Amino acid sequence: MLKTDGLPAHLAKHLPLFSNDQKKWLAKAVAFADSISLEETKRSDSENTFRRDLFEAACREGLGALPFPTTYGGSGGDYLSFVLVNEEFARRCVPVMSSLGVHVLCQEPVYRHGSEDQKKKYLPNSSSGKFLAAFGLTEPNAGSDTAAISTTAKLSADEYILNGTKTFITSGASADYFIVMARLLNDDGSKEGSPGITAFIVEKDFPGFQIGQKFDMLGMRGYSTCEIVFSDCRVPKANMLGAPGDGRKVALGSLAKGRVTIAAQATGWAQGALDAALKVVASTEHGRESGQLDYLIGSLVLMVESARALTYQAARSIDSGESDVTLAAMAKIQATDAAMKVSTEAISLAQEKGLESDLLIERIFRDAKAGQIYEGTNQIQRMLIARSLLK
Ligand SMILES: Cc1cc2nc3c(=O)[nH]c(=O)nc-3n(C[C@H](O)[C@H](O)[C@H](O)COP(=O)(O)OP(=O)(O)OC[C@H]3O[C@@H](n4cnc5c(N)ncnc54)[C@H](O)[C@@H]3O)c2cc1C
Repeated sequence: MLKTDGLPAHLAKHLPLFSNDQKKWLAKAVAFADSISLEETKRSDSENTFRRDLFEAACREGLGALPFPTTYGGSGGDYLSFVLVNEEFARRCVPVMSSLGVHVLCQEPVYRHGSEDQKKKYLPNSSSGKFLAAFGLTEPNAGSDTAAISTTAKLSADEYILNGTKTFITSGASADYFIVMARLLNDDGSKEGSPGITAFIVEKDFPGFQIGQKFDMLGMRGYSTCEIVFSDCRVPKANMLGAPGDGRKVALGSLAKGRVTIAAQATGWAQGALDAALKVVASTEHGRESGQLDYLIGSLVLMVESARALTYQAARSIDSGESDVTLAAMAKIQATDAAMKVSTEAISLAQEKGLESDLLIERIFRDAKAGQIYEGTNQIQRMLIARSLLK
């Protein structure tokens, strides 16, 4: 029996490959998840409420800016450590998980493209939990096709005036600032020859910013997901992030890492569903004589470990400085598809108990479906992989 020192037993084979620092962050995630009762976890889902207090508590533990340098308040951890935290949080459906993932996704472009003033204003407040960040890319008519973005920005004196709507924004109704991609128009308001899609940092208190429709979704509940609306929203000139026309580069560079976070979450969901399935099978002799159940369980374990292997490889690629987008896409597909398949089979195995909320399998089943869609659908990821070889 491998020694795990209180760390999750299913990771026993991986532990010797983790550094002490990585094990420290994993232990923090375990302790944080232990502090949240099953009732609290279920309530944030059933009532669709965001737990700001838990977000702030996670930030106090250093989890709000884990994979960033200490210069602007980051925790100085590597991406694999952040992956381990996300995996553990998802396995146990910790209510703050998705907002924390997006929060890190949003700090990434500020580190990479932000001015000194932007870094000083937004990063320390993000790591402390004073500010919660959200990512505004998707629009009602622009999801996979980011070139179709119709939110506009036009310079007027020393401000940009934004108009448009962003939809399905995780943490939208609770966030303090947003990384927003908008089409920068020429000074006369025309589009032709304009710089194109550009990133901005928009604060919730800027005039003309509004929260739109709030969503009551099948999965990923409890994350304040909503529309955000810009009606002549006034954004100081200094809040452009990166150069004019760099918006897609800013967004896609962040999403390449964000997809590894999603892969980690989905690996955790798959493991959580597998844990529940193993518990059910272990409690009965029924059906094991033919070997069919063992065959099924063996297949599910293989899916989970394959997802984990790709996810850790993608995280190590980020830590090496390479950040391989194809690897990130493969990890995202493999892990979210595994979470969907394993949770489906786990519900079949557990029958009515699997449909009931205590085992968390039905929650994982609902969340996994969303995982196949957001931060780039799995269909689009497959095309991205093919194009990386065929270009
Ligand atoms: C729970 C949740 C949270 C989210 N959080 C955020 C957030 O915080 N910020 C944000 O900006 N967005 C967010 N999104 C939006 C998400 O990123 C988009 O839903 C996703 O990118 C897909 O865009 P779409 O919904 O417009 O679908 P579409 O792009 O319209 O796609 C519809 C279907 O067509 C397929 N498809 C589209 N184009 C092609 C093509 N060229 N070839 C083949 N198939 C194609 C897609 O794969 C998909 O199956 C969230 C979504 C969900 C569900």
